[in-house]
Amino acid sequence: MEILDGKATSAAIKADLKVKVNEMVNAGHKAPHLVAILVGENPASKAYVGNKIKFCQEVGYRSTLLTFNADITEDQLHKEIHKLNNDPEVDGYIVQLPLPKHISEDKILEIVNPEKDVDGFHPVNVGKMVSGLPSYLPATPYGITKIMEHYGISAEGKFVVILGRSHIVGRPMSILLSQSRPYGNGTVVVCHSRTKNLEELTRKADILVAAIGIPQFVKAEMVKDGAVIIDVGINRIDDTTRTRGWRLVGDVDFDAVSEKASYITPVPGGVGPMTIAGLMLNCYHAAQKRV
Ligand code: NDP
Repeated sequence: MEILDGKATSAAIKADLKVKVNEMVNAGHKAPHLVAILVGENPASKAYVGNKIKFCQEVGYRSTLLTFNADITEDQLHKEIHKLNNDPEVDGYIVQLPLPKHISEDKILEIVNPEKDVDGFHPVNVGKMVSGLPSYLPATPYGITKIMEHYGISAEGKFVVILGRSHIVGRPMSILLSQSRPYGNGTVVVCHSRTKNLEELTRKADILVAAIGIPQFVKAEMVKDGAVIIDVGINRIDDTTRTRGWRLVGDVDFDAVSEKASYITPVPGGVGPMTIAGLMLNCYHAAQKRV
């Protein structure tokens, strides 16, 4: 079994981006500029945004963090987004989710400029991805394709099972791995909460992607010998042995499943760092358009 090391793969992408940004700046262009919008005080959101800003600093991007109180009105937030849409100094921006309940995430998605949508969530970018046209890919699936490429893993001719059909992970992942792309050409089945014979399907999977948000849901008996396991889940479980009282686990029972897998992503240190790498690659592509 080999660990698919997201930290190391992300570090390699970081090093490559650093060189490219340097070249961009030496050629007289401005470095890519990412803006992150953070609304409210959600500690997990703060940590995610903090990691993104840190990555920007490490590769030499310009970055701006815009923070707003949780009681910002929908109208005010829309105005801020329109400003970013029209600001030529901004290559890409992200609105960190989740947003407070009084703000519709769907409406935000509609007003984001697709050219600056480095999260790859806008319907225009989703449509282009589905059509196989160049577009920003959603950061988590993009990051997963990058770790697959890094370790020479392709879905070609393989039976792929994806657990979860969300717009940000499961659904786009299923599209990318079934398309004719270097890491794609898989035969893909998407499972969700209404799937009846889930274990029958997972046991046949050459590649299993778990993105359902249930701690350690995938057990060893659900996995085929030699399968590639991509664990997207990030779940907190109680752990009295830790001073903070909890630890992070994925959607896969790592210890037992790693005995059977050929490759497996750990949590933390697997898909998480690759998601940020995916976002940063999108931001670089955005900046390249003006160069
Ligand atoms: P969502 O809650 O949006 O989607 C979960 C999906 O899992 C749904 O399609 C749901 O089915 C399905 N599901 C739920 N329970 C079951 C079940 N018992 N059997 C089969 N399918 C089930 O989650 P996300 O896609 O946003 O995230 C999934 C996980 O990945 C979470 O732990 C999240 O924290 C993590 N995540 C990690 C990222 C990273 O960077 N590592 C990035 C994004 C997410 P249905 O549609 O029928 O409700």
